Amino acid sequence: MTDRRHGPSTTAIHGVPRRRPEGAPVAPAIQQSSTFVNPVGSDEHILYSRYGNNPNQLEIARKYALLEGAEEAIFLASGMAATALAHLAVLRPGDHLVSSSWIYGGTQQLFDQELGRFGIEITYVGPDQPRGWRQSVRKATRAIFIETPTNPLMRVVDLAPVAHVAREFGLALLVDATFASPINFRPLEHGADVAITSATKYLNGHSDVIAGAVAGSSSLVEEVTRLLRLWGQAIDPHAAWLVDRGMRTLALRMARHNANGLAVAQWAAAHKAFTTVHYPGLPSHPDAKLAKKVLDGFGGMVGLELAGGPKAAARLLQRIKLVTHAPSLAGVETLVSEPRFTSHSGISPKDRAALGIPDGFLRLSCGIEDADDIIADLEEALSK
Ligand SMILES: *Cc1c(COP(=O)(O)O)cnc(C)c1O
Repeated sequence: MTDRRHGPSTTAIHGVPRRRPEGAPVAPAIQQSSTFVNPVGSDEHILYSRYGNNPNQLEIARKYALLEGAEEAIFLASGMAATALAHLAVLRPGDHLVSSSWIYGGTQQLFDQELGRFGIEITYVGPDQPRGWRQSVRKATRAIFIETPTNPLMRVVDLAPVAHVAREFGLALLVDATFASPINFRPLEHGADVAITSATKYLNGHSDVIAGAVAGSSSLVEEVTRLLRLWGQAIDPHAAWLVDRGMRTLALRMARHNANGLAVAQWAAAHKAFTTVHYPGLPSHPDAKLAKKVLDGFGGMVGLELAGGPKAAARLLQRIKLVTHAPSLAGVETLVSEPRFTSHSGISPKDRAALGIPDGFLRLSCGIEDADDIIADLEEALSK
């Protein structure tokens, strides 16, 4: 290829820049069509939006693959669809999966409630016990799954030793790096085989789309695409167009999410209302050194523990104005939620506390507003 590699900001806008023909629209058209005109006498190249080969679907897949440094990528109708099909692509009935225990609640339920259908067994490993990866590998083990950075403690998992084990035993390493986006962290650069993202979050970034994506080798993406055609979780062309539009500002938004996350974390760390602030950009974070080494930015997610416990948390949530009490994350607007009622509601208060998520824990997703305004809203909610 004679093309020089472009930076992530350029790539997120253009994919591979091409000279546009005269009269071509600068913004892409939405190909809101389920099907396309076929060549006569051929069963090849059938274009059908459930197949994931609608032009709007292909365009964002190309951009995402470039951003992750992968051969290919495919978009799906949600982050859960991406996680589900990525695992179905690498696991066969009777296989064994080793998973980090620090994962998104929906992913854990998928593993615990659905993979059993295929006789797939799962062993969970706490990433703070790094010997556990190797110790958990069996004859039937085919894959390792990791999420980093984690929800809501923002722990950063070191992929290097896990990738070493995966290579030694010929296992696929799948990594959900939703909380980082490819701007802050690209799993394939650290030995992963498959990157998974909930595009609902930073990739789209405007809290108006549900989508997900998988990136990896051509053969892996081909297998996910084959499954997609049969299991049917294609992304709608309009949603794909919205993701395309969101991705154009991804690098710029991440720079602001990173700056706001750090500013809010530093403010909270100095405020007496909070006992602990979980943010990988703070020196007090258990993974601060690793985070500095492997992340290009610390993101907009901040975990907060209030001195006044759950009552103080409820009071704050009732008084905020700019910051909105809602689940989900990574949009342009700042959101806050309580993991005990959302992502970790299925766990007893005692087990949650053991995980480091006591009642009253708040998970803040810093948007791209002015940091001073986010802080002022929180300050006012605390002070009354
Ligand atoms: C939100 C999320 C998912 C699921 O994504 P959806 O788009 O809601 O299906 C998976 N993993 C992580 C880390 C998430 O934050």
